Amino acid sequence: MATLTLTDVTKVFNSGGSNEVTAVDEVSMTIDDGEFLVLVGPSGCGKSTTLRMIAGLETVTSGDITLDDRRINNVSPANRDLAMVFQSYALYPHMTVRENMRFGLEESTTLEDDVIADTVVETASLMDISELLDRTPTELSGGQQQRVALGRAIVRDPAAFLMDEPLSNLDAKLRATMRTELQRIQADLDVTTVYVTHDQTEAMTMGDRIAVLNDGILQQVGTPLECYHTPQNRFVAGFIGEPSMNFFDGTMKQETLTAQQFSYPLSGEIQSAIGSTREVTLGVRPEDIIMHQETENAIQTGDHHFECVVDVVEPVGESNHIYLRFAGDKSPDPETFIATISGMQTVNSGDHVIVEIPPEAIHLFDTRSGTALMNRSLTDNGSVETPQLRWIALHLRGRRCHSVSINQRRGLTLREYRVSMWEESTYPIECPEEWPVWYLRNCLKYWIASGSHPHSYSCPGHSACPD
Ligand code: ATP
Repeated sequence: MATLTLTDVTKVFNSGGSNEVTAVDEVSMTIDDGEFLVLVGPSGCGKSTTLRMIAGLETVTSGDITLDDRRINNVSPANRDLAMVFQSYALYPHMTVRENMRFGLEESTTLEDDVIADTVVETASLMDISELLDRTPTELSGGQQQRVALGRAIVRDPAAFLMDEPLSNLDAKLRATMRTELQRIQADLDVTTVYVTHDQTEAMTMGDRIAVLNDGILQQVGTPLECYHTPQNRFVAGFIGEPSMNFFDGTMKQETLTAQQFSYPLSGEIQSAIGSTREVTLGVRPEDIIMHQETENAIQTGDHHFECVVDVVEPVGESNHIYLRFAGDKSPDPETFIATISGMQTVNSGDHVIVEIPPEAIHLFDTRSGTALMNRSLTDNGSVETPQLRWIALHLRGRRCHSVSINQRRGLTLREYRVSMWEESTYPIECPEEWPVWYLRNCLKYWIASGSHPHSYSCPGHSACPD
């Protein structure tokens, strides 16, 4: 276990040449002891290079990497006490699973043979691969190979794990299962972990904190909640969240933001948050948009209500993603934006609807710099997260529950979410808002393990938690 610190870490490839690339640009962050930090960003943003510098597989152009108080820039990879797991399983094909797992230990320790043998058996049991120990990699499925690759890293009991897209070769269902399992193992072992992925859902559901990179530059480091609700800039706002946040570029004209498609009056409080910035981008998450059917007679167009036409309906089961265009937009190729509504709501393409963009749900960005001028208002103290509840939904899906859906309406307090599970019942999620993420997760595992319905929400107590 260790604390890993990066200080102004930079990597320039082909320095001075015509094809010079600054892959990582003055990245600084601290990964706490036992923390699961996910490095996320689009292809080519510098994630793997950062990880490879930590591992010692790439030299550092400038800056420092320390493991606890030890500067490791010039320490050989073998002596860094780090275990790396790659997307390709990189198992030795001529060795059995047992030999693959033994190999790392034999290379990196001076343990006696019988201790090594016992450690391999224990780790295999933890990874649920005991019955595979005498098979060779060619006799394993992709999921089993990845499990072995993880086991081979775990058996070494390193100071930290470095994982580069370790699940991306697996099919979607197996990936979801392995995600949960990896979290369980990481929490059991309590080992500092840096996990690279381009998949924001993986980042949101797995990370204690996530670090968002773009073009080699660190955009934000924070809990999934912080990055989701209070993005520091437009890039993070657009990258985190699925479907992505909708953006509308506009200009401030007195108290109104005038975009190509609509005019949106802003309160005095919001205007003071904007200050003197004129070119402003309004952002709103699809799940925060409220869509009213035209049959709801009381709803009229107005300040924050707009007449729109349904372009495409994309049903995903528990919800529908609705692609909309403003009714007044007569351009030949009108821009669409997305609203996510309940899967039970029936909407058809071509329908005219009234779309409400609630002022308390909007984000505003400086169009030129992308910097957030104002993020949506939160009605809770921020200690209970939407991603946390998403994690619950993901975790429960495919397990013992019949179905899980989270219905978010206005506001963000926990009590306004509902998770339906086991038969068609719906239970409100009510737990103290001060419960931290890890504790809620543990309680949830307890609820699942004990088969108790979480509507009672009696706290199992720390000693009862499986972890
Ligand atoms: P992906 O998700 O596609 O793996 P990434 O975020 O991990 O991408 P890196 O592999 O770290 O990105 O690459 C960052 C940048 O550095 C890219 O522009 C890449 O082309 C460049 N790069 C990486 N390795 C080298 C190299 N050995 N020589 C030159 N340029 C490189």
